[in-house]
Amino acid sequence: MLRTQTCGELNLQHVGQNVTLCGWVNRSRDMGGMTFIDLRDRYGITQLVFNITSNAALCMEARKLGREFVLSAKGIVAERSNKNLKIPTGEIEINIESFEILNPSKIPPFTIEDETDGGEELRMKYRYLDLRRTVNKKNLELRHKMSIETRNYLNSQGFIEIETPVLIKSTPEGARDFVVPSRMNPGQFYALPQSPQTFKQLLMIAGFDRYFQIVKCFRDEDLRADRQLEFTQIDCEMSFVTREDILNTFEGLARHLFKAVKNLDVPTFPRMTYQEAMAEYGSDKPDIRFGMKLTELNDLAKGKGFRVFDEAELVVGICAEGCSEYTRKQLDELTEWVKRPQTGAAGLIYIKYGKDSSIKSSIDKFFSPVDLTAIIQRFNSKPGDLLFIMAGPKEKTRFAMNDLRLEMGNRLGLRKSGEFKPLWVTHFPLLEWNDEARRFYAMHHPFTSPLPEDIPLLDTDPGAVRANAYDLVINGVEIGGGSIRIHNKELQQKMFKVLGFTDENAQDQFGFLMNAFEYGAPPHGGIAFGFDRWCTIFGGGDSIRDYIAFPKNNAGRDVMIDTPAGISDEQWKELNIKPLKP
Ligand code: ASP
Repeated sequence: MLRTQTCGELNLQHVGQNVTLCGWVNRSRDMGGMTFIDLRDRYGITQLVFNITSNAALCMEARKLGREFVLSAKGIVAERSNKNLKIPTGEIEINIESFEILNPSKIPPFTIEDETDGGEELRMKYRYLDLRRTVNKKNLELRHKMSIETRNYLNSQGFIEIETPVLIKSTPEGARDFVVPSRMNPGQFYALPQSPQTFKQLLMIAGFDRYFQIVKCFRDEDLRADRQLEFTQIDCEMSFVTREDILNTFEGLARHLFKAVKNLDVPTFPRMTYQEAMAEYGSDKPDIRFGMKLTELNDLAKGKGFRVFDEAELVVGICAEGCSEYTRKQLDELTEWVKRPQTGAAGLIYIKYGKDSSIKSSIDKFFSPVDLTAIIQRFNSKPGDLLFIMAGPKEKTRFAMNDLRLEMGNRLGLRKSGEFKPLWVTHFPLLEWNDEARRFYAMHHPFTSPLPEDIPLLDTDPGAVRANAYDLVINGVEIGGGSIRIHNKELQQKMFKVLGFTDENAQDQFGFLMNAFEYGAPPHGGIAFGFDRWCTIFGGGDSIRDYIAFPKNNAGRDVMIDTPAGISDEQWKELNIKPLKP
């Protein structure tokens, strides 16, 4: 090794020892007769000292070293007179006797510090320099810990990790496929997996019983802070299990990760049906770190002559505790906020329940004090509270109310980082009607089994069929989802029919799976977790990009290697495809 120790491990016990360290020049300072250099590596920072009286030539050489030069430095560990107790190596320094420049460095385009002066685009272009920053290093260390602990737990439970292919045929998970042209089969394409869904089911048919894989998946969709074109799943499948078995097994995984990575003991996860989640939170991924539940008011609000309420499918409200002193200006600002297209509310009604028990509202014209008191009582409000009410079509209004609830949660500091509230959401609808395409889409994917008691509804009222599916939600973020699968050819065929596939089409695309069902497919089910998201939640970050070594930007570009990029004429020819003429 070129070094005897790392830059993160020397302390008072090592005083007097001869050591050689390697690393990058983080910072250097000249103080009269001394030059100090902070040498940095993956493990920490150690102070190197050059003394002009003991070795003038060496000290002059050291003064020429620039930021990010790579050094090997040899010297003796000494106790520092000016100690820095904030870092583990802050009580010692190294009196340097000789050093070697292993490689010089250009001046980096931004400072390699936690609070860097580099903008996002610049840091992405020089991601290898960005990754030298402690924040990013810590994020990748957390990610490593998460993956090791996931493997430890699943291995301890008898799961076997099996790789599935990357060049496959389209597996519909609701997004667009990335396709790869086949040189050897002109005019034909592979698709990159949106998930290993069909393969993991085939592994169950093969008898593997408990499978997992930490695996890259690819979905060609528009990007947001919590989405990347390529992302990582913890993908799992089990045979001979019920939904309960799966929830318990993977609650075990989640609890193991909470303990091993965050040192937290989390109580049993609550369960909530999709229908409850939508009614009480307006969302299928509720943040249950705080209350402020949605309360339906149709019976109290209608029939008082207020058209907005009378004509609405749903009148629903939330109670913001202790907010009755909100000013006109604050209320107007919130009203504008909910009317932004992202939230899309038509307006916002308020009832102030003053600290002195007075009641004031924006609907005083239509509602008597008795009417307003009845509404206040429905919320169990206390003097000092503020009620917000919205009205309109059910889905849209719940959506907007959920937005407002989360925003109020943020403004009131109720969504505390460092607090974790996981839950399972179950009983999702199997199908979603798409008005544009005039057909049903699978809410999860077409391999999800209906709840057994709802199977007859497939023929009569498909929209009402509930799925044997579940999501793991933590703090309002969907961390994972899965289902018990269909393992019977006839039911799978019926499902494809409901989804608008012709028999031919279904056979063409998924014949391999349906044929396999005829060779002794065991009952099975599974789940997949968004690994990048889970790391982000545990790390307390805002964007999954910060937990991915080399992420793509919002336009789907890797600005460091500058891709996607064109290909040569030669490659076009080889692939036997022609570029579209503009
Ligand atoms: N393949 C599904 C997904 O990617 C997860 C599952 O059903 O196991 O969402």
